[in-house]
Amino acid sequence: MKQIVIATHNPGKLKEFITLLAPFGFTVTSSGELELPSPSETARDFAGNARIKALTAAKASGLPALADDSGLSVLALNGQPGVFSARYAGDDYPGAFAKIIAAAKSKDVWDAWFTCALCLAQPDGSTATYIGEAPGRIAPEARGEGGFGYDAIFIPNGYEQTYAELGDEKESISHRARAFEQIEAVLAAK
Ligand code: IMP
Repeated sequence: MKQIVIATHNPGKLKEFITLLAPFGFTVTSSGELELPSPSETARDFAGNARIKALTAAKASGLPALADDSGLSVLALNGQPGVFSARYAGDDYPGAFAKIIAAAKSKDVWDAWFTCALCLAQPDGSTATYIGEAPGRIAPEARGEGGFGYDAIFIPNGYEQTYAELGDEKESISHRARAFEQIEAVLAAK
């Protein structure tokens, strides 16, 4: 049986990866489940942080590891919080939503985009990194119960619903799905 570690302690991301990986016949485990350490995300971009997370998990587990580093960039905040998305919200997502909506409203600039860098690392230290982006806009108020993180305030281009309102449909159009599409051929060959 093929095995892969998802290098995340985030249950929302893990759920999405399990769905994305389902067609490939892997036995999926996570760094949370294996109690692997969370490395410091010291890189300045998504790709660098994804690489740190994937390599740490692959070396500690001896298995191929897939890591994602992702975040929301808001034009009215000059592209922030970006790589700092998790830290910007901390434990207070409603507070972060309020700050982002206030910034978009004050400039009347609503554009935003999600980025996902996906890194597949092998225990021998080799890595491959793929980037997916989803452009969209900030919703004027948080809407929807599904998803995690900033899902309730992000409306992807071509839709009127937020990611949180889209439910499972998010998994076929998201920044993570777009990065994942590029890795599919590699995973199918493993
Ligand atoms: P990371 O674990 O350092 O990559 O942090 C990513 C953070 O970006 C998450 O904790 C969320 O705050 C945000 N984020 C990334 N992807 C998504 C998504 O698909 N929906 C909502 N928020 C997301």
